[in-house]
Amino acid sequence: MSELVKGKCGVFGIASDREIALDIYAGLMALQHRGQESCGIATFDGSSLRVHRDMGLVGEVFDDKKLQGLLGNRGIGHVRYSTTGGSLFENAQPFYFKAPKVEIALGFNGNLTNYNSLKERLEEEGRIFTSTTDAEVIAHLIAKELSKSNDVFEVVKNALSQLEGAYSLTILTGDGKVVAARDPLGFRPLCLGKRKDGYVVASETAALDAVEAEFVREIEPGEIVIIDDKVSSKKALKGNRRAHCMFEFVYFARADSIFEGKDIYDVRERLGKKLAELYKLDVDVVVPIPDSGRSTAYGYSVASGKRMAEGLIKNRYVYRTFIMPTVKGRKSSVKLKLNAVRSIVKGKKIALVDDSIVRGTTINKIAQLLRSAGAKEIHLLISCPPIISPCYMGIDFPTKKELIASGKSVEEIKKEIGVDSLNYMTIEGLIEAIGLPKNNLCTACLTGEYPVKIEKRDLG
Ligand code: SF4
Repeated sequence: MSELVKGKCGVFGIASDREIALDIYAGLMALQHRGQESCGIATFDGSSLRVHRDMGLVGEVFDDKKLQGLLGNRGIGHVRYSTTGGSLFENAQPFYFKAPKVEIALGFNGNLTNYNSLKERLEEEGRIFTSTTDAEVIAHLIAKELSKSNDVFEVVKNALSQLEGAYSLTILTGDGKVVAARDPLGFRPLCLGKRKDGYVVASETAALDAVEAEFVREIEPGEIVIIDDKVSSKKALKGNRRAHCMFEFVYFARADSIFEGKDIYDVRERLGKKLAELYKLDVDVVVPIPDSGRSTAYGYSVASGKRMAEGLIKNRYVYRTFIMPTVKGRKSSVKLKLNAVRSIVKGKKIALVDDSIVRGTTINKIAQLLRSAGAKEIHLLISCPPIISPCYMGIDFPTKKELIASGKSVEEIKKEIGVDSLNYMTIEGLIEAIGLPKNNLCTACLTGEYPVKIEKRDLG
């Protein structure tokens, strides 16, 4: 993925018998790829919540002094991209909510497809919003339920049963309970880990590894887990199917994470092998677009017998392009981000491997870069089938108009990008490589068939 696609966030939560601010910091570091615009930590210090959140990367927002101020042995953390709501301080999370008899902090990953109607209804009831995030809508719903009951499970269940869309979230209650919940269709990942001193929840298993927690299991779609001195859980919300986001497997999740029992690295390698089965190309070398194309390029290389080499080198000090919030930022960073290794590409027929094409703006520049370094032919292999529809479940794919594959043939896209051949994964091949039943996956951006009702809004 060499393009600007925002979306996703990362959530983390821990309940221990020792200070946990440093653990949350480490967990957020491991989830940094899921959100680089803002981040935050909330802890329970024994009597109330302490929260620090700000714009920027985890390493920029927190230093020793800030972490020392986050006292307590229970807490949650969050890294954020903007999907619903802009890239603003007010929208940084954990979202903190305080009202008479209510204090909660909330971290959210996903996108509510009924956000507008829920917000309208709450505003009609006199509730005042200070941000434009889904997290605030959920916080209001929970606050409302808390005025009726003290049973945390019932409160969260009643609040979440009003939501539609994708969410994996963590909540820290005013009395120090860590709550984790996942939507009934299971769009986004969420897992549970255990250490000697307590329990951990995180968006990805890589964050459990970062705090040396043992992976226990994934939190089930529709399940609510409450952690204090012990773990209690109930399957609270029913879905008529599952809809795990295929894009987590293809691109978003870390290659060293496990999602729905599948090692992400292995899925990406299988995608490469499948591409080799589908496309037998006459090429001299297989070149990945770093870093996301690497495991798939390896799979293609192994299965095709063609040598893989790092023909493109990434400047690791330039942020991933897709997190840049403006088009201007995106354009300028492409030039800074990659350079070609002339000795590998000059005079060669190249199989160039990437995970997906969204707008097609950067892949076009990478093709130009390779040509000016002397590449003879460029054959592009893409492990995600053509993206033709927007995502309303947490990934900020643009409108149909901006999606290069929407309404165009592969031949037209190939010309626009400027490559000699364009070879997309098929939907069947993708499902086979992921290894889950078709009906357990969301593929809406590939098919235009959404697994949840989408509120009336601009469908592009
Ligand atoms: S529409 Fe695409 S990106 Fe969005 S949840 Fe479904 S598979 Fe994932």
